[in-house]
Amino acid sequence: MKSDFIIQCIDNITNCIVESESEIESLDRVIGDGDHYINIKRGALAVQSIKGDLNHLTNAEAFKKIGMTIMSSVGGASGPLFASFFLALSKEVSDNDDLHKFSLGFSRGVESIMQRGKSKLGDKTMLDVLIPVSEKLQSLVKDGCEKNIMIKEIDLTAQAGVIATKDLIPAKGRSAGLAERAVGHIDPGAKTCQIIISTICNQLNKG
Ligand code: ADP
Ligand code: MG
Repeated sequence: MKSDFIIQCIDNITNCIVESESEIESLDRVIGDGDHYINIKRGALAVQSIKGDLNHLTNAEAFKKIGMTIMSSVGGASGPLFASFFLALSKEVSDNDDLHKFSLGFSRGVESIMQRGKSKLGDKTMLDVLIPVSEKLQSLVKDGCEKNIMIKEIDLTAQAGVIATKDLIPAKGRSAGLAERAVGHIDPGAKTCQIIISTICNQLNKG
C-alpha cells in the first residue's frame, strides 16, 4: 500500500459518505438518534484534513494517525469503535503490500471493535458487515485468490452483510431498546461500513 493510495481512499470515501447523506441519516433516524451521518462526516473531514501529513509516514504510522484523529474528533458510539479498528490495524500492517499481514490486521481491528463494544455477529451493528468481510478476506488471501475475484467477493460480502442486518433484532447500541420494532430496518453503522468497503473495492478495480 502506498500513501497516495490511502490518500485517494480518504477522498473517495469522504465523497461517497457525503453523497449518501440522506440514506445514512434516515437509517439512524429510524432506529437510532439521527446523528450517525454527522459523526461519520466529521470523522471523514478530520481525516481528510490530516492527509497531507500521511505522505511521509509508514502504513502503520498512517493508520495510527488516522485512528487517533477519529478518536479525538468523532463522538457517539461509532467514533471510538472506528478509532479502535485503525489503532489495532496499525499494529499489524507492513509497508510491503503483504496481504496476509493486512488481513490479519483487519481481523485484529474487528476484534478490537468487538472487545470495545462488547458485541458480536448478529447484534445488528457494523460488525454484521465487518466480521463476514474479515473472514472472507482471510480465506481468500489464504487461498491465493486472484485480485479481481477477491475485490468482487469482498464487495458482495459487504453488501450481503448490510442487507442481513434488516432481519436482525438489535442487541447493542441505541437501537437495542427497540427490540423487535427494529426488525425490517438496516443498521446505519453497517451501511456506513459497506459504503466504505465498496468504495475501496471500486478504487482497487480502477487501479
Ligand atoms: P450513537 O449510537 O452513539 O448515536 P452513531 O449513531 O454514530 O452513535 O453510531 C451508531 C452505530 O454504531 C450503530 O448503527 C452500530 O452499527 C454501531 N454500534 C453501536 N453500538 C455498538 C456496539 N456496541 N458494537 C458495535 N457497533 C456498535
Ligand atoms: Mg446515532
